[in-house]
Amino acid sequence: MLIYTKIVLNWFPNGCTHSKNSIDHFRTIAYTLSMPFDITRREALAGIAAIVAQPSYLLKLKAERPIGWAILGLGSYATNQIMPAFSACTESKLVALISGHSDKLERFGSQYGIAKSHRYTYDEMDAIKHNPDIDVVYIITPPSTHPSFTIRAANLGKHVCSEKPMAPTVAECQSMIDACKRNHRLLQIGYRCHYEVHNLRAIEACRSGELGRILSIESDHGFNIGHGQWRTQKALAGGGSMMDIGIYSLNALRYLSGEEPIEVSATITSPANDDRFVDCEDTVDFTLTFKSGLKAHGTSGYSWSPGKNQFKVVGSKGTLVANPATAYEGDSLHLNDLALNITPNNQWAAQMDHFSTCIRHNKKPATPGEEGLKDIKIIQAIYESARTGLPVRLV
Ligand code: NAD
Repeated sequence: MLIYTKIVLNWFPNGCTHSKNSIDHFRTIAYTLSMPFDITRREALAGIAAIVAQPSYLLKLKAERPIGWAILGLGSYATNQIMPAFSACTESKLVALISGHSDKLERFGSQYGIAKSHRYTYDEMDAIKHNPDIDVVYIITPPSTHPSFTIRAANLGKHVCSEKPMAPTVAECQSMIDACKRNHRLLQIGYRCHYEVHNLRAIEACRSGELGRILSIESDHGFNIGHGQWRTQKALAGGGSMMDIGIYSLNALRYLSGEEPIEVSATITSPANDDRFVDCEDTVDFTLTFKSGLKAHGTSGYSWSPGKNQFKVVGSKGTLVANPATAYEGDSLHLNDLALNITPNNQWAAQMDHFSTCIRHNKKPATPGEEGLKDIKIIQAIYESARTGLPVRLV
C-alpha cells in the first residue's frame, strides 16, 4: 500500500509560536513528511496494534511534554555538536546520559543538569526500561557498536537514533531495522544534512526544474586524519574514509539525483608506508550509474590536505555549487555563480525535533534505517568493485 503522508499547511510544531526556529523546523518537517514511502498492509496493522497496545504511552506524549532523549556515548560529536543543540530544540529534551566512563557521566551530567538517577553506565543501561522520561536513545559511538546498542535499546522499549554510518554490514543494518520493527519502535539515522537548509534548498533546485535536466553530479569529501584513531581500525569503523566521510559524497549524490544507482564502479588508492592505512582505505573514487542514465561521481579521502567538502550539480539550465556543502557551519550554495541568500538553521536541533515529531505522531522519519542500509549496500558494492576491478550491478 503506497501512502503519501499529507501535512496540514497551517500546522506548526510546538503550538503556534511563529519563531524563526519554528519556521525552519516547519520547512524541514514539511519537506520530509511529504516524501512518499511504502508501507505494507502487515506493517500498517502492526503499527495500529502497537498504538492500541500502548495507549497510555501515546496519551502521555500527546500531553505536550518534550520527547526525552538519552545520549549514549559521550565522545566528541555527542558533546560538541549534539548536546549543545538541545538548547535550540522545541520538541526534544536531553534527559539522560549513557556512557562507558563514570567520570564523563559525572562531568557532563553536572554540566547539563542531568539527575544522578538518569546517568547510566553501559552495565546499568538495562534500567532505562523503567525510566519513563526516556523515549529515545541516541547512539553516538563507533559504527561497529551501533547494531548491539540499537537492538538493546529497542528491546528496552526505546526509540533509537543511530549515528552514521549505520553499521559495517548490510546484515547488521537489517538486524537494527528488524529489532525496532519487532518492538514497534522508530529508527532514525543521524543524517544531519537532510535537515540542513542549504542541502534542502539544493534538493529543491534539483527537483523543481530550476536546473533543468540534471546532466552530472559530483561530490568530494575528505580530510587529513590523525594517527591512531578508531576511524582507521576496520573492526571499529567498518572500513576507512568511505564509511566515515565518503558517505557524505554518496548520500549527497543520492539525495540530489533523487534516484537509486543501478551500477557502481570504484577504485581505491592508499599510500604505502603510512600506518593510518594498514587496516583501512584512504582515497576512494567511485561512479554511480542511475536508471535514467545519469552518471554521478564521488570521492572520499583520509590523506587530503587541504580537505574537501563540496558538491556540484550541472543541469541544462544552470549549475549549482555547494562549498562547503555539508559542514557543521558555513555551508554555502551558489546558483550560476550567484550566492543564494539562505538563513542557516541548527541542523542538529532540526534533526532531533523531526524525530521527536515523528515519535509523537507515530510516523516514519525522513532518514529511517532503510536509508542507512541503502548507503551501506552501495559502499559494500564500491569495495567489491575496487577489489575486483569490475562494475557491480545493484539491482
Ligand atoms: P569519538 O571517538 O569522539 O567518540 C566515540 C565515543 O564512543 C567515546 O565516548 C568512546 O568512549 C565511545 N566508545 C569508543 N569505543 C567504544 C566501544 N567499543 N563501545 C562503546 N563505546 C565506545 O567519536 P565521534 O567523532 O564522536 O563519533 C561517534 C559516532 O558519531 C560515529 O559513528 C561517527 O561516524 C559519528 N559522527 C557523526 C558526525 C555527523 O556529522 N553526523 C560527526 C562526527 C561523528
